[in-house]
Amino acid sequence: MKAVLFDLFGTLTDNPTEAEVHALHHEIASVLNISPQEYREGWKTTFHDRARGMHATVKESIAAAAACCSTPYRAAGLDRAVEIRIHYTRNWLIPRPDALETIISIRSRGIRTGLLSNCTDEVPMLWPNLEFAAVIDHPLFSSSERLRKPMPEFYERALERMNVKAAECLFVADGDNGELAAARKLGFDVVMIRPSWLLNDYRQNAEEDWEGPRIERLSELIQYLK
Ligand SMILES: [Mg+2]
Repeated sequence: MKAVLFDLFGTLTDNPTEAEVHALHHEIASVLNISPQEYREGWKTTFHDRARGMHATVKESIAAAAACCSTPYRAAGLDRAVEIRIHYTRNWLIPRPDALETIISIRSRGIRTGLLSNCTDEVPMLWPNLEFAAVIDHPLFSSSERLRKPMPEFYERALERMNVKAAECLFVADGDNGELAAARKLGFDVVMIRPSWLLNDYRQNAEEDWEGPRIERLSELIQYLK
């Protein structure tokens, strides 16, 4: 094993809860004077464009979701909406209790570390100030790379950056949007992380049918480093 490639949300951090995501959409809809339900739907509808970096800024991503609503949004509220979104995301980027020590332990074995995240632009903006930045050698963000999981090209770009082959790399993720199956198809070793005590967290097309290796804590990953 020459490298470990991590998903971010639900892997190195807990996913936000459904209630937290609901509160975020509600606050943003309120400053934009639109329906929270319609904004939430709009945010889902525009996911693929957003995650592929089709919007230049967080502001454009919010505006694209707001434009899906049946009434015009209050454009003057957009700057405040961006602040709200960044504030929530920052609070969702807290490392799991064993995340940093596990990554450090992996690196101490001479194994390279990478990140493959489907995210909006605020994540690469916040990244340099996160503790992860010091221990993840090669972070790849969908919004910056203009690729997203499960597109094979996104995984292949990570392999290029880490200078390893898929068969030399372990991919670890909670399994949103078919990311585990896609990695396995490309020849990665794959482990799902899914703590059994996490209920009501926010998922997107979760791979409920995954039958491969599964762990509950990041520290269990060490046994898969061969
Ligand atoms: Mg995830």
